[in-house]
Amino acid sequence: MQVTARAADRSRLGDAEVSLDERPARLRLGEPGREREHFLDWEQAVDDGGHLRKCVLCGCDTLYRSRSTPRLTVIVAVLALSVVAVGLAGYGTPSILVAALLIFAAIDVVLWMRLEWRLTCYRCRSTFRGMPIARYHLGWDARTQRRIDGANQPSPGSS
Ligand SMILES: [Zn+2]
Repeated sequence: MQVTARAADRSRLGDAEVSLDERPARLRLGEPGREREHFLDWEQAVDDGGHLRKCVLCGCDTLYRSRSTPRLTVIVAVLALSVVAVGLAGYGTPSILVAALLIFAAIDVVLWMRLEWRLTCYRCRSTFRGMPIARYHLGWDARTQRRIDGANQPSPGSS
């Protein structure tokens, strides 16, 4: 799987290919010459089906699934908007405009279907992609985010 690793403060550490079978204990990340080693926590990180269960960077056991928005989708959206703008300005016949919009919509749907899912850590925002994803990972949820953010705060009186 491909990992975009982030530190506890969510700053980007770098990208790396990590084998779910080999489960390396350490990962070298960073620009060439300025690489640093990061430890990966595989303790209960992979379930019986061989799926990633939790974040191997920070150990958080809650991940959410998402699909990345490709740059092409943005271009398609801009094209569709410009078609609408041309139509509002009074140029072009409505049937051609509708046909163009339908084509753009079809391209967008195909692009979206081809996107692969990825898992993101609620706590450190490291992402994991290029591997099968277990069904129990759900989409991002605000309540779960609050729970995890709250768990990271130092409890009152501890400082
Ligand atoms: Zn994490």
